[in-house]
This record gives sequence, structure tokens and C-alpha cells, in this order.
Amino acid sequence: MKNIRNFSIIAHIDHGKSTLSDRLIQSTGIIADRDFHDQILDSMDIERERGITIKSQTVCLPYKAADGQLFSLNLIDTPGHVDFTYEVSRALASCEGALLLVDATQGVEAQTLANLYLAMEHNLTIIPVINKIDLPSANVEWVKEQIADDLGLDPFDAVLTSAKEGTGIPELLEAIVNQLPPPEGDADAPLKAMIFDSHYDPYRGTVVHMRIVDGSVKAGDEIRFMSNDAVYKVEEVGLFQIVRNPQKTLSAGQVGYMIAGIKTVSDTRCGDTVTHHKKPCAKAFGGFHEAKPVVFSSIYPVASDDYEELATAIEKLKLNDAALMYEKDSSAALGFGFRCGFLGMLHLEVVQERLEREFDLSLIITAPSVSYHLELMDGENIVVDNPALYPDPTLIKSVKEPFIKANIIVPERYMGAVMKLCMERRGINRNYQYLTSSRLEMIFELPLGEVVYDFYDKLKSITQGYGSFDYDMLEHRETNLVKLDILVNGEKVDALAQLVHKDKAEARGRMACERLKEEIPRQQFKIPIQAAIGGKIVARETISAFRKDVTAKCYGGDISRKRKLLEKQKKGKKRMKMVGQVEIPQAAFLSVLKTG
Ligand code: GDP
Ligand code: MG
Repeated sequence: MKNIRNFSIIAHIDHGKSTLSDRLIQSTGIIADRDFHDQILDSMDIERERGITIKSQTVCLPYKAADGQLFSLNLIDTPGHVDFTYEVSRALASCEGALLLVDATQGVEAQTLANLYLAMEHNLTIIPVINKIDLPSANVEWVKEQIADDLGLDPFDAVLTSAKEGTGIPELLEAIVNQLPPPEGDADAPLKAMIFDSHYDPYRGTVVHMRIVDGSVKAGDEIRFMSNDAVYKVEEVGLFQIVRNPQKTLSAGQVGYMIAGIKTVSDTRCGDTVTHHKKPCAKAFGGFHEAKPVVFSSIYPVASDDYEELATAIEKLKLNDAALMYEKDSSAALGFGFRCGFLGMLHLEVVQERLEREFDLSLIITAPSVSYHLELMDGENIVVDNPALYPDPTLIKSVKEPFIKANIIVPERYMGAVMKLCMERRGINRNYQYLTSSRLEMIFELPLGEVVYDFYDKLKSITQGYGSFDYDMLEHRETNLVKLDILVNGEKVDALAQLVHKDKAEARGRMACERLKEEIPRQQFKIPIQAAIGGKIVARETISAFRKDVTAKCYGGDISRKRKLLEKQKKGKKRMKMVGQVEIPQAAFLSVLKTG
């Protein structure tokens, strides 16, 4: 056990975590060079396309230290975006140390700090790493100052690396074995292991990712999940080494996986304790905090008969995404589906994409909403996060909406643009301060409802990518809310309704109609699109009917071309939902929230 090191790499997004992990993996030779590709731990398509890490990944690296001793290094790569803090927090719970990576050209950013605090909460030993020292604009001395002043760490300990060129990697490996503590625990005590993640394998059932704290576990053992007393027989244990590498046993201090023919997906919970059935440990771990969703939206299958499939898919995805919350939901327009809670907009998009790709489903996601606190005339207090369930306004005494404290760090030249953006979103500027002579930290209080949709994208674009954004939840505050209804072809579509501040409702209504006009394709008849507040129409657009059959162009002669065209149309159709007599494409449901 004294030759094990469990650590994580934490950093602001883009500072080079995944690239550094690649170098560490390569340098220990667990994977042949011909099988290696960049960002090897970002195994999901969506991570590769977007160039971001969404899931934590574990890899066990054998390392022979300078003094000749053999070590086993468990590296846990973690995501950097605010939406995935929950994922980071769970990964850290199974580590003793962390590499805190700082980009030598960008310095300390919002997420660097947030992640440092998380690491400190878990009492981790921290090694600062200054990366990208190969860049001409790298300023190591300036970053060292920030490490001392802003982070309160000793810059003397900092390891200098270029993950891109591979410099500093041997020094970093030595720092890991010399500066980070080995795990504590009793290998002879009864088994006590913590589940920090899991995923579903179609051939083997649930694969549990766990950290063994005490004792050991091997194939053939009877184990028990302590939260629900489910008992299983272990089929296989092993280490994550890009592929699963089966082992005879896993023992105290190690991080690895367990397969135990677990078919009941809901038996496995993050934070749960695994022990031996016959010889259990005395006390379970405290478990993780439940993730607190802040954005809510409903998910429906495009084809109503896919509901059962969607239900199984969500349950399996939840295994690998403990922050996803869901319950059954139904809509007049869209049928049966699920109301889901997410940690932010990026989380929502990731869930949608994973459901569609990993489970081959075609989905409709409704416009996201935050949760409102309502006091009714009869004195009852209720929480509403679904516009479709918003009560009649005459029954409502008062409404409160959630606020956040936003922390935005930008180069000084973008101050005006950021100020304007936040003011448009009903923000209140509370404070600003210079972190260095040219970098500014701005604090705003903003209604969460104004931030959930495209605030982060807007901020990135007005600051040419230099703005960083992080937030904490504040309390709910009194607001003036109205429900904006959307009528397509004269019919109210509950899944398109949104809750909006009164002052913005008309403008939003006009915007929503314009967007829908762009998104909904022409059909055989004219389609009016209207926005209404309390029965009063505030905006209207019309989609004119199309004139010709698309196949008419093909003159009848070229059959194969005609067939292709029809097939193309059919494929497109899978992404269309019939609402009344109108086909509405999937994208339209999210487009109503776009602000322009
Ligand atoms: P992550 O978001 O922290 O995982 O960051 P990535 O590892 O995806 O890196 C972000 C970008 O920085 C990529 O384009 C990398 O190629 C680049 N990068 C990472 N490390 C270095 C480095 O040491 N030097 C240079 N020049 N670029 C780097
Ligand atoms: Mg990454």
C-alpha cells in the first residue's frame, strides 16, 4: 500500500489536463504507441468533438521510481467546466493528492480556484504544476506569484511542464511519489470499498468503479451494497488501464472495477459502500451529497412507442451520471416522457447527446426552466419548474426566482461588453477588482433564469474566449413572472410554453415566433404561430404553405433519385414531432429560448 498513489488532475478548462494525462500514460508504457491517440481518456465521441472532458476517467499506471521502487499510480482525469463540479468532487473523494494545473500564459482562473477549494475540502495534498511553458507568451514568474498570492501554495514546489512537448514529465512523476502520501487503510480488516462511479456494459451488466479503503475483494466473493442490502457474487475485479485489466484481487488503497452480474441497474449508487456479505465492515461511508439540479426540462421520445426504450436508457445513463435527476412526466402535445433536472445547460446538452448516441434514440427536449417558489392566495407554498404546470395567475400571491452570484474574470478591455451583457440580463453589479494590472474580476448578482440558456456562449463570444465564468447559488428573490404561451396553428403547445419576467415577455414572444418560423418547415397549409400572455396575443408570424411536391422535380424518369429523395425526407422525419396537424422539428423546442 505504501507504493500506491491516488491522485487527480484538476485545472481550469483548457489548461491542459487531458494532454498531461496523455503524457503520463505514454511515459509509463501501458499502451503501445501504435494504439495511442491524443486525449485518450476522453473516450466519448462528444468529448472528442467538443474537446472537453465530461466524465472522470481512471487509469492505473505502473511506475519505476528513480530509487528503483515500483509504484502503482492511479490517475483520475476530471472535467473542468462548472456544470461538472459534482463529477470532480466524487473523483477527489477517492484520492490523497491532486495536481493543480495552471496554464503559464493564462494564470489562475475561476475554475482553478473552485477546484482548489474542492481539493482542500477533501484534505488532499496539492502539487502545483505550471503547464505550457513552451509557449513564447508563458510567464512562469507571474504564475508563481499567483500561486503564492491567490492560491496560498508554495511556488517553490511547482513543477514546470510542457504537456505538449513532454518536458518536465520525469520530474512530475518523481514529485508524485515523493510529495503525495500513500493511502491509509487496513488490508486485513473486513472489506470496505466506496463506489465513486459506474457504467453499463451490455455484455457484463453494471461495472462498478470503486476505491478499496480496507480489506480486499476477489472473484467468487459474496458482496453486499450497504445502502440497500443487495447481495451479489463477484465475477471479476481489475484495474483500469485504458482497457479493463482483470486481477486476482483488489486490496486496500487500490482503485479499480468490479463486475458482479448486476442486472438491477438501480442497485448501484454512487457513494455507497461495498462490503463482504458474511463478514461486513462496521460502518458505511457517509455517502455523497445529492447533486442539486438547477435547470429543468422534459425529454420525450420523438416516436411515442419509444417510451419504454427511453425509460431503460435514462436508467442506464444515470449509472454513469449520478447528477442526472428524473421523474415521469406527460404532456398533452408530446405524450409520455421524463422531467429531468440538470446541473446546467452544458449538462443538459450532454445528456441529450449521450441518450441519442449511446442509446440510439431520437428525442425532443423542451425549453429549460429554473425552479420558482410560489405563494398562493390560499397560503399554500409550491415549487414550480415546469411552465406547463404554472397555476392560473389569479391564484398566485407572489413568485420568487433563484439568483446567482456570478464571478466573471476577463481582461480589462472587455469590461464594458460584460457590463452590458449582464445588465441586459437584469444583473446587478456588486463589485469588481483588479487581480493583476490588466485582469479584472467582476461580481454580479443575476437571475439564474437569465443565465441558463446562452449566457455562457454569449460571454465567450463577446470576450473572444477570454472570459471565465463561475457561480454560486444565492437565495430566491421576489419577481414579476408571466407565462408565455405559444400557439401553433391555433393550438397551445404546452411543451413550448415558458416563464418569463413581465418586462421581457413581449420581446421574448416576438423572438420565439421568429425562431419558430425559421425552424418549422413549410407544410401543405399555412401555419400561424402566435405568442400569448394570459390569453392576449402579443406576437405573430405566419409560415406560408409550400407549393410543390419535392419529388415533382424528378420528372418521374429517374426512379433511384426519387427514392433517395424520399428516403432523405423519411430520415429527416424521425426528428419531427406531429403536434396537432403540424410537424415540428426537434430543434424548434430549444430554439424558443434563444435571445438572438
Ligand atoms: P483540458 O481542457 O484541461 O483537458 O485541456 P486539453 O488537454 O484539452 O488542452 C487544451 C489545449 O491546450 C489543447 O489544444 C492542447 O493541445 C493545448 N496544450 C495542452 N498542453 C500544452 C502545452 O504544454 N503547450 C502548448 N503549447 N499547448 C498545450
Ligand atoms: Mg480535458
